[in-house]
Amino acid sequence: MIVMKFGGTSVGSGPMLVRVSDIVSRAPAERVVVISAMAGVTDAILNVLPRVQRDEGAIEPFLRELLNKHLAALHDAGASDAEVVKVTQEIDALLQRFERLLYGIAYTEELTAKTKDLAVSFGERLSVRLLAGVLRTRGVPAEAVDADDAGMLTDGSFGNATPIMSAIERNLERSLVGRLRNGVTPVLTGFFGCDAMGRVTTFGRGGSDYAAAIVAAALRANRLEVWKDVDGFLTADPRILKDAQPIAEMTYDEAAELAGVGAKVLHPRTVEPLKDLHVPILVRNTQQPEVQGTLITGVASVSRNALRSAATKDGLAILKIYGPGMAYTPGIGQKVFDALAKAKVNVYNMAASQASFALLIEESDLDRGLKALESIREGTIQSVEGITDMTLICVVGRGIGSTFGTSGKIFTAVGKAGVNIEMISVGASDIALNFVVKRKDRDACVRAIHHEFLFERPAPGPTEPAHSPR
Ligand code: ADP
Ligand code: ASP
Ligand code: MG
Repeated sequence: MIVMKFGGTSVGSGPMLVRVSDIVSRAPAERVVVISAMAGVTDAILNVLPRVQRDEGAIEPFLRELLNKHLAALHDAGASDAEVVKVTQEIDALLQRFERLLYGIAYTEELTAKTKDLAVSFGERLSVRLLAGVLRTRGVPAEAVDADDAGMLTDGSFGNATPIMSAIERNLERSLVGRLRNGVTPVLTGFFGCDAMGRVTTFGRGGSDYAAAIVAAALRANRLEVWKDVDGFLTADPRILKDAQPIAEMTYDEAAELAGVGAKVLHPRTVEPLKDLHVPILVRNTQQPEVQGTLITGVASVSRNALRSAATKDGLAILKIYGPGMAYTPGIGQKVFDALAKAKVNVYNMAASQASFALLIEESDLDRGLKALESIREGTIQSVEGITDMTLICVVGRGIGSTFGTSGKIFTAVGKAGVNIEMISVGASDIALNFVVKRKDRDACVRAIHHEFLFERPAPGPTEPAHSPR
């Protein structure tokens, strides 16, 4: 049994739905398909909600556009007349429910995390019905399934839910395994589950990867295939570096470090449910199904020069705390962390010297962080300062911490590119090296590391004449 996840771009148009149907129909017969909303739909819903809250006039044009987008895709995918009728009815029923919710938001002028999660779930509820219809048109028995109906139970934190695995295992056994035995391919909504009261809870943006991993773990799948718009996990973000290369294999830990820092290709928690069960993850390209993609498992061959890939996270700030006696004041670190925790400021990274601490936090938390530290300022802490526009760079590769001279070589390459390193933490991990640069230096920094370590130039082969003689 395998789980196949297709992202928003992969199901973003009629021709893409056909492509996905072809890939699914060629896969092993026992498969569960998990998909995202069509590209742009989640963003569109999130954008319209505050407008609806102010003005109910925004509702009708929005729903009409959503309906047209899905019907056009169904049509462009060549759905049969019978499927067009069936799926159009299903979409109409969903949009009626969605309309009621939107008027509720407009009348109450209230938009909570709870209603937001319910509202965005409609993107996936719509897309699964489209793909199931297109699959059936092409002779593949398929059924759309909503994750809350299937029993994807979570802890109830809206926007950031955690699955309750034991319950999900039991529930999916009941809701999906029967369909599989009957030769039906379930097409399941990604992105969300529900709490014990049935209230919809999402796994955060990009959460369909995580949802698919939860399903693969619960069903003890042979593998999870994650189908994207890139040739696999690449050596760098292709939006930063055009010549980023696909990585053939990597380990769960490497993928988790990179995704955790911000490699958008996988939701940060995707690896979590699968690692201990040893379920392999295969990252593949919907546009190029013949490309082998990236295989993520517990073991992978050591990467060239010990480095695998680099990821970056923007929108950060450094909180600097000065005090000449800090190194001699027991408990000062605890005081600082307690104050930040109380103010709900998350610390990503830290560095310390005799007279200062530097803490890496979200830029949007900076004001709260500064206020929290002002409140504990007394003898030891002399001043507190915030520096904005920072980017975290995470370079990953097995043995990066233990391979002599690797970090030195990285910093030399970065220095040669004229980039100043604002903050470093070395030694915390054997597979990741994290440091901070100014946002404006991000691209130069990634390029320098990439060209020094990651960019595999084609091996010089035997020289061939430009025109081979016939
Ligand atoms: P999906 O909708 O299928 O989940 P996403 O857009 O969320 O797809 O993720 C794929 C995108 O992630 C790619 O198009 C690419 O721009 C971006 N990305 C960032 N870092 C990497 C990386 N290291 N390897 C591959 N893609 C990356
Ligand atoms: N549709 C959701 C989002 O855009 C989930 C996903 O695509 O993974 O965040
Ligand atoms: Mg994604």
